[in-house]
Amino acid sequence: MSSIVVVGGGIIGTGIAYYLRDSDHRVTLVEKNQLGSGTSRYSTAMFGWHFPHPADYLFRRRSWAGWRDVLEQTDLEHHTVGNVRVARSQEALSELRETVAVQQSYGIETRMISPEEAAEYGIDPDAIEGAMHSPREGYVNQQGFMEFYAERAQEHGVEVLTGTEVHDVTTEDGAVTGVETEAGHIDADVVVNAAGPWSPRLNDMVEVSLPLKHSRAQIMVLQADAPHGFPFIDLEGDHYFRPESETKMLAGRHGPPFHQIGELDPDHAHDIQEEFRLSVIDQIETVVPGLQETEVINDWVGIRTVTPDGRPVLGPTSVEGFVVATGMSGSGVSQHAAVAKTLSQYFRTGEASDTLRYHAPSRFRGQSGTEAQLGPTGPTHPQ
Ligand SMILES: Cc1cc2nc3c(=O)[nH]c(=O)nc-3n(C[C@H](O)[C@H](O)[C@H](O)COP(=O)(O)OP(=O)(O)OC[C@H]3O[C@@H](n4cnc5c(N)ncnc54)[C@H](O)[C@@H]3O)c2cc1C
Repeated sequence: MSSIVVVGGGIIGTGIAYYLRDSDHRVTLVEKNQLGSGTSRYSTAMFGWHFPHPADYLFRRRSWAGWRDVLEQTDLEHHTVGNVRVARSQEALSELRETVAVQQSYGIETRMISPEEAAEYGIDPDAIEGAMHSPREGYVNQQGFMEFYAERAQEHGVEVLTGTEVHDVTTEDGAVTGVETEAGHIDADVVVNAAGPWSPRLNDMVEVSLPLKHSRAQIMVLQADAPHGFPFIDLEGDHYFRPESETKMLAGRHGPPFHQIGELDPDHAHDIQEEFRLSVIDQIETVVPGLQETEVINDWVGIRTVTPDGRPVLGPTSVEGFVVATGMSGSGVSQHAAVAKTLSQYFRTGEASDTLRYHAPSRFRGQSGTEAQLGPTGPTHPQ
């Protein structure tokens, strides 16, 4: 039996605690504020099937099974709003066609729709070449998921400490011995870094260096006078609009690529940028005129933790017992159940599965700013 300390009570940390709840290990979840007070709080919490490789599809399918389990056990709702992803160029249109073909081959309900059909969703048909429509996609109340995970974990003996910051990770002879918190030292054989945008700080405590950066995820809340009836609208993977209620829509933008971003201070409150505000107005005017009669009633900014390939970084590192579960980029809510199940399986069996190898820190070996970090050699593609 090991003593495992999970640092970070977001969707990842609470998920890991839940999936470890009936293991042989002594598990403690340590959160410096309240559960779900980090990036997870600001998320639009959509489940998307987009994936560049079949292995990513399998990972999401594993996660979707976890979502379904929670939905079946609770009165939490999956808001099945559907996803309309538009193409504004011929090139983007052929990419969408390829995506639809691949997704259909995996049994995902999705199809191409014409610009005229997209007009039904407030989109200007003259501004687009076509779109794909995935009617089963939707979002959940991620706060409800985190509460459920924490409650069930506690019922099964997991200790949950909130308002408790980890100041240091202690080691001896290259192996983890515990964490220092403001409430004292907690012994541990394993420390899991699930600290979201703060995870580079945890890595620094044990001199593990991974290529992690931050991107600003800005949201504006749009209020309409009447029910809009629109689905999630994704403009070529750039701006997006997510229904929040019958009359509210959240306007956001996917993150820029890794090479265009840097680091942000996650303790600092970040404001909406004027450039973002103007770009949303521009997109509404030029592509989604159906949202023109709305006013901005609120906004917020969350921070994504991004890896070079946009996939999570999971598993053991060069410091024995120091395990990472970070770099969720823009998909941490979608993928959290697969992340938590994969790590839980690792802690139960001591074996690194192909899925874990695929996401291992070692895939970044040799990249700028990265020391030869351990982890099982990889990546390999899970079948
Ligand atoms: C605006 C926005 C929209 C998004 N939309 C989507 C979406 O539609 N679908 C999707 O799948 N994903 C989406 N994401 C991404 C997703 O929200 C994140 O990937 C996910 O929430 C990350 O969860 P986490 O648990 O890794 O991090 P966090 O939620 O940030 O949790 C980390 C926790 O660690 C705690 N912590 C940090 N340091 C310490 C310490 N030293 N001691 C103790 N505790 C500590 C923090 O307080 C925090 O609660 C979106 C993100 C944003 C911001």
